[in-house]
Amino acid sequence: MANSDHYTDPTGHHINIGAMQDALGPNCAECGRTIIPRASGGTVAEPWQHAMDCSSYRPHPDSIAGQPGYVPST
Ligand SMILES: [Zn+2]
Repeated sequence: MANSDHYTDPTGHHINIGAMQDALGPNCAECGRTIIPRASGGTVAEPWQHAMDCSSYRPHPDSIAGQPGYVPST
């Protein structure tokens, strides 16, 4: 899997996904990441904040990996 596909949009622009990890949580029970980044104003879970190998991880919808029909390159 090309990790860059997860933080680059189809036009090649970098997507700033990595929110500040927030001590207020809540944190994912599996990967421990903050999934609602309240420090940056978030109020809803952002499934792309999980670790990529977490079962709850989903690519950012604007990323290459988040496009419908995306097939990971090997
Ligand atoms: Zn997780």
